[in-house]
Amino acid sequence: MTGSLLPVATPRRAGRVVWTQLRARPLATAATALSAVAAAAAGLLAPAVLGRLVDAVDRGTGSVWPYAWALLGAAVLAAVLTGVSTVLVARLGETVLARLREAVVDRALHLPSATLDRVRGGDLLSRVTDDVAKVAEAVTSALPQVAAAGLTVLLTLVGLGALDWRLALAGALALPLYVLALRWYLPRSAPRYAAERVAMGERSQALVSSLQGVDTVHAYADEARHRAVVDERSGQALRITLGVFRLFTDFGWRMNRAEYVGLAAVLAVGFWLVRDGDTTVGAVTTAALLFHRLFGPLGLLLVTFDDVQSAGASLVRMVGVADLPVPPSPAPASGRPAVELRGVGHSYGGAPVLADVDLVLAPGERVALVGASGAGKTTLAGVLAGALRPTAGEVLVDGAPADLRAHVGLVSQEVHVFAGTLADDVRLARPGATDAEVAAALRTVGADWALGLGLGTLVGDGGRTLTAPQAQQLALARLVLADPPVAVLDEATAEAGSAGARDLEEAATAATAGRTTLVVAHRLTQAARADRVVVLAAGRVVEQGTHAELVAAGGRYADLWSAWTARG
Ligand code: ADP
Ligand code: MG
Repeated sequence: MTGSLLPVATPRRAGRVVWTQLRARPLATAATALSAVAAAAAGLLAPAVLGRLVDAVDRGTGSVWPYAWALLGAAVLAAVLTGVSTVLVARLGETVLARLREAVVDRALHLPSATLDRVRGGDLLSRVTDDVAKVAEAVTSALPQVAAAGLTVLLTLVGLGALDWRLALAGALALPLYVLALRWYLPRSAPRYAAERVAMGERSQALVSSLQGVDTVHAYADEARHRAVVDERSGQALRITLGVFRLFTDFGWRMNRAEYVGLAAVLAVGFWLVRDGDTTVGAVTTAALLFHRLFGPLGLLLVTFDDVQSAGASLVRMVGVADLPVPPSPAPASGRPAVELRGVGHSYGGAPVLADVDLVLAPGERVALVGASGAGKTTLAGVLAGALRPTAGEVLVDGAPADLRAHVGLVSQEVHVFAGTLADDVRLARPGATDAEVAAALRTVGADWALGLGLGTLVGDGGRTLTAPQAQQLALARLVLADPPVAVLDEATAEAGSAGARDLEEAATAATAGRTTLVVAHRLTQAARADRVVVLAAGRVVEQGTHAELVAAGGRYADLWSAWTARG
């Protein structure tokens, strides 16, 4: 299967989500909109005042000073309002984005691990990081600019029309040239921007790949070749960027041509109107200045168009995740239930990894699952713990379908220790637990080293690094604290030092005491101590019985056992 498992929202849906957020903040939204309109309107003041000034000069009467002060006032007002509106637009955008980001992270954490497994590192990570960053950048930089430019163009056109429709019409002569410039630019720019993005991606990929493999690069004294690759990609990215720049300069010339043709038309028509006494020199000046003001924002709208478009693409990806339903939290269960796998099959999209597995764990029974690497043991453990949904069959608790997460505690092969204190890491199994309860759980699994270090010791990223057996012990302490009626343990494959492994075995036995338990056993001494042994081969149960029965039967388990004991 190709494509993303994560949904993407329609633009309409994304728009509605943003609108809902804005409506929840009517005051901030109204103030922001008002400030943006006021800022754009204030920009019209300076051309108006200059026009009056020209008329005053033309008449040769009165003082220039009132106009000078008005001009200064207009400039200050426009600057202040622009500043205020930029801040308000960015702040409102950031607030809405923050809500959306929280929703994305929350839904990401609730995704079933089967989905997470397939999108981890890729799509999901890029939605939580790249997409959020892209939208954030657009919100703080492109959005205020686009809002200001759009309103300026709109209000300037209105102002121009209100001033003198004949002058406005003359300015409209620029329109065909402007459209021609656009028609020249747009088909050329899109592929170049796309190529630029690809080239930049390749450049960082080359760099990241060289740095990640730096040990190998050193080992083979391969620095020069790697630098050459990075240099070549950098050169290519630079060439394309310069091409984009040249294209934009060319486009600027074409825009200028349109602007000056329009300006010449405004001035020519203005000249006739003034001569016939139909308008004043000042009005023509104002019209020319207003007309000139159109082109800056028009160019800006075009430049930011790409940013806005790519931010839009990111937004629908974010909303797609934010709209995912949140599954209800399971209610904790107790007792010693029977667990039954009935006709369970599982595949990761390709060939089946588990097929037709029937397995009953009696209340309080301890079952060991053994089999070669790749037989499907970890998959079976995941299905039993509710971390993986079976693609065939069902898992029953006391004879009925149930939310397995409420009944089953899973200790995985590889334990992730979270950044934070030792106590925090264990407490994630039961957030309300006291320090005394955390300490008791650690003592139950024999993690004396943890008590020696102290519950407040920082571990995980940025803290003390723990060994794999220590991490396993923390996971067992979590299990004890969570106290589920059913336990599933996936024993770590590679264990350094058999003494540590024996400690872990004792810890596992203590942690699972009184629970219905399935242990994926790599150490067959574990299997020998279980109530029953189940042998898995190529996703199927091929043998089951007590250790003694299976050894006597002389089948696959007997072979595994003699190989294990021969190892010493
Ligand atoms: P075991 O724990 O017995 O070594 P696993 O359950 O881990 O076996 O794996 C069984 C088979 O499923 C293997 O062939 C493995 O490559 C495959 N497999 C395991 N996890 C995944 C996954 N997330 N995606 C695709 N294939 C997987
Ligand atoms: Mg495994």
